[in-house]
Formats: sequence, C-alpha cells, structure tokens
Amino acid sequence: MFAIVCLSSCGPTPTEAPPFDADRAFGYLETQVDFGPRVPDTEASAVARDYYYGHFSNLGMEVDSQVFDFFDPYSSTNMILVNVIAHYVDPDANAMRICLMAHYDCRPRAEYAVDSTLRDTPIDGANDGASGVAILMELANMVATNPPGCHVDFVLVDGEDWGEPGDIQYYMLGSKHFAQSNIRDRYRFGIVVDMVGDSGQQIYREGFSNMYNEALTDLVWNTAASLGVTTFHDSVKYTIYDDHLSLITAGVPTIDIIDFDYPFWHTESDTPDKCSPLALDNVGRVLGHVIYNSSSWPPKR
Ligand SMILES: [Zn+2]
Repeated sequence: MFAIVCLSSCGPTPTEAPPFDADRAFGYLETQVDFGPRVPDTEASAVARDYYYGHFSNLGMEVDSQVFDFFDPYSSTNMILVNVIAHYVDPDANAMRICLMAHYDCRPRAEYAVDSTLRDTPIDGANDGASGVAILMELANMVATNPPGCHVDFVLVDGEDWGEPGDIQYYMLGSKHFAQSNIRDRYRFGIVVDMVGDSGQQIYREGFSNMYNEALTDLVWNTAASLGVTTFHDSVKYTIYDDHLSLITAGVPTIDIIDFDYPFWHTESDTPDKCSPLALDNVGRVLGHVIYNSSSWPPKR
C-alpha cells in the first residue's frame, strides 16, 4: 500500500496526455451501429472490420487479422471469427508494449428484451461493444500524432458475447484465441474496456481485476481521481467474466474497465441514444493519462 500512495503523491511529475476528442469518438460509435449488429461471421461484422482496418492503417499502423474457426454448438455449424490487431510502434524502439482490448462483436440475441418476441434478435451494441472500440480508435489518433513513449497494440476481438447464459466456455472466444499466441512476455500490462459509453455512467472496480491486479486497478482509479473523473467509484461492485480473464490466464497483468449498471444490457435498446460523448471522454482521458505515464509502470518498491 505504501508504494501505491507514493506513486500518486511523490512519484515523477505526471505527463499530460493530449486532448481526447470525445465527439469524434462518439462518431465512431455511431458509425459502427450504422453497420448493423456486428454478429460474428456476418456481413456487418466484415464491413466493420474493413472500417477498423482503414482507420488504423490510415494512421500508419500495421494491422493484422487473426482468423480462426469456431464450431458453434447452437447451430452445429462451423463459423469463421476474426480478431483485428493494430500495432502502434513508438519512435523509442526500446519502449515497452501495452495491450488495449475491446470486443467489436454484438450479441446475437437480446435475451433481456421486455418484448419476448425480440429475444432472438441481435442487438445494436452501441454500449456493449461499439463504445470500447470507439475509445480505442480515438486513442489511436492520439498516439499516432503524439508519441507516448510506449508501443501500443489495439486489439479488437470477435466473439466475446456469443454464449448463452451460463455457457461460459462460449464467451470470450476472440480473446481466448488471441491469448494462445504467446503473449505473456509481449506486454507490460493490458487494459480491457467494455460497456463504457452509458450516459448514466458509473464505473466500479471489477472483482477479478482487483483480485489479480490490484495495483494496476489502483493506478487507473487513482488516475481518474486525479483528473476529477467522478464516474469512477473506488470500490468493487461486480465480478465479471470478460476478455481480461483470457489475458490474465495467459500471464499478462490486465484489468477490465466496465460499467455493469446499464439498464439496456442485452436488449434491443442498447442504442446510441443511451450513450454519450461525455462517458467516452471520461474513460478516454483516464486511459490517455495512463498510456502517457505507463513507462513508470510498474512502480519501484
Ligand atoms: Zn454483452
């Protein structure tokens, strides 16, 4: 605990991150929704990937795709899933590398729709999917024009939200595949963002993040406090199976920034009007600050 207090109060003077353009980020959220539900192995998913490739490659980043098969137990068919990985390479060749991850897929069924006839309908995923990707796209703009002193991989994963309730093995498909690619020594740390666009944003520490990587969670929540971002609450409320578990299992210290107090979760009403640029700004500014000060992580003890 001493080292944590010292980090925020007597460490090196923090580097200020460049501005986060929240309106532009919100445009990225809306554009993704305009493509239709980005359900794995659909045309809308492919269109969204083309959009991501164009965005990151226009910023001068190399963009890889990881294509893999998944046998779907619900339809008994083979599906093709695709992760998109954009690499920001800092001018400082010796810089360490961090991983920022969001899922771009949409849930194929709105199981919590009030109208039971809609429960087999795919969701728009404005918050559950598009919000995290939108923040990563805007952070890519930030680092591409203002070198942060670390390499950053922007990892957009497919198939996070595929499983039916209780079928935990059919969630997190893309991140589990990504984590098989010998990532343990590649990243100093990872941060997953998911459901971060709610206009009524309330973000609590997530239980697995706090249990396995408390110091990294402290860093993010202390950063939010130092920036005056009041939607980050300094206590654990939910413990959630999400993509961060794939990275933690692979040995990469990773946390999840997720707002699980979202009344429209897994309903047809997860649409852009429930989200706001301010919510994206809150998380984007915190992440920007963490990125531009990440060279001092982990703190010396
Ligand atoms: Zn979901």
